Formats: sequence, C-alpha cells, structure tokens
Amino acid sequence: MLKLGLHVSISGSIDKAVDRAVEKGCNTFQIFTRNPRGWRSRDLTREEVEAFIEKVEKFKIEPVFGHMPYLPNLASPKDETYRRSVESLITELRRCVELKIPYLVTHLGSHLGAGMEIGFKRIIKAVNRALSEVEGNVMLLLENTAGTKNSIGGSFEDIRYIIERVDYPERVGVCFDTCHGFAAGYDLRTMESVESTIKMLDEVIGFERLKLVHLNDSKGGLNSRIDRHEHIGMGMIGEEGFRNILRSRLGQLPLILETPIDKRRSDVENLQKVRELAGETKS
Ligand code: MN
Ligand code: MN
Ligand code: ZN
Repeated sequence: MLKLGLHVSISGSIDKAVDRAVEKGCNTFQIFTRNPRGWRSRDLTREEVEAFIEKVEKFKIEPVFGHMPYLPNLASPKDETYRRSVESLITELRRCVELKIPYLVTHLGSHLGAGMEIGFKRIIKAVNRALSEVEGNVMLLLENTAGTKNSIGGSFEDIRYIIERVDYPERVGVCFDTCHGFAAGYDLRTMESVESTIKMLDEVIGFERLKLVHLNDSKGGLNSRIDRHEHIGMGMIGEEGFRNILRSRLGQLPLILETPIDKRRSDVENLQKVRELAGETKS
C-alpha cells in the first residue's frame, strides 16, 4: 500500500493537523510547525505537544514530516538574513524533536548572485552549526530545487557536494520533489526516463538517502527552471509519468502532495488520483 499524504494546516492548534490528515485519508503527512510566513514563532504549549504526539500514535499516521518556513535562506550572502536563517533552522529542529517528528525538510536557498561557492559554504556551515546544537532524533532532509536562477540544489551533484562536507552525514537525507526535478531537467515521463533519473540519483547521492518524495506535477516543461506545482496528471509530467513514478522505486517511499488549492481539483481528489494511477483503486 502507498504511504501517501498531504501538507496539512496546523491552524487552531498543532494537534489538529493530525485530525485533518486522518479525515483526508492520509497515512503520512507534512506540516509547518508554525506560521511559515513570518520570522517569529510562538513556543508550543506542553498540552498541544502532548496532544500531537498522542494523536500521531493513536492513528499510526507516520512518519510525520516538518517543513522549514519560507523566509529563511541558508545560502544568503547577507549576514543578518543568514544569522536569522540559521536560528530558524535550529528552532525548527528543536520543535521537531519536541514533537517527535523524525524528519525536517529544508530548501537549500539562493546565493542571490554572490556565487555558488559562497552559497555552498554558508549552507554547509549552517547545517553543521544547527546539527551540533540540536541533539535528538531528527534527520534534516535536503530538498532538490527547480534550478531557478541563483538557487542551490537544482542538481543531484549540488546535494552530494553538501552531504560530503557536513560533519553529521548520518543525520542528513534527501527529499526529491518531482515538480522541481522535472523543471530542473530530470525527465519523469516514460518508464525509461524515470529509471534513468533514479539511476542518476542513486549514483550521485545514493538511493538510501532518499526518505521522502514530494509528489507534484509541473506547470513548467522539462528543464524550464520554473517552480510551479500542478495537480497530479494535469501538468507536464502527466498521468503516464505519474503511473511510471508510482510503479518505480520512488512509489515505495513516503509521498507527500504539495499540489495547488483551487477549484479544478481538491486535495482529496489528488490523493484519489494517485491511488488510481498506482492501481490501488478504479477510476
Ligand atoms: Mn519544499
Ligand atoms: Mn516540495
Ligand atoms: Zn516548489
């Protein structure tokens, strides 16, 4: 059976995210542990932490994935942004430990034109600093990007470069976003292309480092470098592409949808579409 879920809201209190995921039929899910649009976060109360952990255990809806908020940029050449970004990473890792969330997903950020070398240096330093400050059972997952201008993480080589240079490689894994990968030039439409993308990932990073797939279709074409998510099967990867992805080794991993919220299709219908393409249900 698929390990399949959504990014769900924590609105109200964080434990409500578990209820939402269960109601929508997920058996895994992803959250922001706080408002993703600001720098500040309020501390979690003991009650909500306990309620969250209890519900996750009760419904056996695991693993849970945390995602870093939007503002931090771990590759930023600007000292003040960088300092706050590293602080955010530390805070988020701590919150995951508190909530018993085993994985935190992060983007690698943008060097804003300062150059890849500076960007890499900053990220590596950030990861080292954060992981040295936070002990406990949380793995940091580096997410591939769409390869937009100045961004780091558009290629598997970028991700390997970082993993090879961190002090705690055993605490670092990878999240592969299908929309980002496709937009960055990794084809996923035919079985052959899915297999060759997996082979590249395995040779460059090591398939065992991959802990999560963000299952999103792409509005942009192959190698378009456009980061715009689309409903499953309605974008440039298409239904046949997802059928192949789901049939491959990627389909065995936890799959989290970050598809759009609009009138064309609900998130529950996207889950349904994935199950249908995986051959779990009839259309
Ligand atoms: Mn992401
Ligand atoms: Mn993603
Ligand atoms: Zn994206």
